[in-house]
Amino acid sequence: MSASLNLGKYAGIKVQIHWTFWLLFLFIGLMVFTQDGGLTDLFWHSLFIFGIFFCVVLHEFGHALTARKYGIGTHSITLLPIGGVASLKKIPENPYEELMIAIAGPAVNVVIVLLLLPFIPLETYFGMDAETLESELSVIGAHNMLFYLFMANIALVLFNIIPAFPMDGGRIFRALLSMRMGRLEATRIASGLGKFMALIFFMVGLFYSIILAIISVFIWFGAHSENIMIQQLELMRGYSIRDAMITEYSMLHPDDNLNKAVEKILASTQQDFIVHSNEDVKGILYMSDLAEALRNSGRDTPVREVMDEHFIILDADEPLTNAYRKIRRNNRNFFPVMKYGKIVGVLDMNNINEFLTFRSSFDF
Ligand SMILES: [Zn+2]
Repeated sequence: MSASLNLGKYAGIKVQIHWTFWLLFLFIGLMVFTQDGGLTDLFWHSLFIFGIFFCVVLHEFGHALTARKYGIGTHSITLLPIGGVASLKKIPENPYEELMIAIAGPAVNVVIVLLLLPFIPLETYFGMDAETLESELSVIGAHNMLFYLFMANIALVLFNIIPAFPMDGGRIFRALLSMRMGRLEATRIASGLGKFMALIFFMVGLFYSIILAIISVFIWFGAHSENIMIQQLELMRGYSIRDAMITEYSMLHPDDNLNKAVEKILASTQQDFIVHSNEDVKGILYMSDLAEALRNSGRDTPVREVMDEHFIILDADEPLTNAYRKIRRNNRNFFPVMKYGKIVGVLDMNNINEFLTFRSSFDF
């Protein structure tokens, strides 16, 4: 489900709220009402949540704008109930750049803490006895809202610098390790530590905070998949698409009917087809679309009516790592490969996986 509320673009970066974010308010509502709070309580709690998430957005802009300094763009900044995510178009490979981008987020919260500091009556609070202090701070309201935001920003800094890769602290840790050893080894260690921290978060979360438990699951899978991705990219380094592409395949013409495609699928292991006329790619016929079209319009329908005309063409001499990134970002999984205006092969994720299997067992 991708029902996200678009908040517009700031500094050229799209900011959106994921639909699950609103579950947080359901949660807060339940919490306030089970503690006999009224609408006023709900109002101040909600305002506080908006305040925190405004700081979270600024934190993400810290990452995104620093990344931009190094030529790395950002797809979007998304707010989830467990925090914000700035989806960078590329993970920086230079350790110094990764370090700066990772630090920039928590640094924004440090700045917010320093800006709020003059408005927090810390001395008054220190002068109060425990009971007065508790009544002053236990219920959130206009009189202590800034104090709550102040504390929340301190918590954001402390939580984010825990070295639980792929959280900010984990990225800082990996960047520092990468300066001493290879990035591959650094990622393996950082991701191992990330998973270990995720386990601890999960245990603590089970008893004290469901949100922490949820975050731990994201950390675990994030650490796992980024480690695998880095290992795979390393295996592909130095190879071009030509080294991994499929060179034995058949193609269709826009005027062929769906029956011909069915015959080709049954006669081989191929499932998706380049549709071309005179070596010019006109579209891609995917088996998933074919099955639907057969049900709706029958076997005599020409391929041109079913093929997808939005596709990415790969260049045979492009680095294989580029193709891997494009394929991971795309929900389609079959790409024509061309050279000098001629179709020379196709590439899909299965073939990349085969390539990786052989590469990890021996060099070829
Ligand atoms: Zn961050």
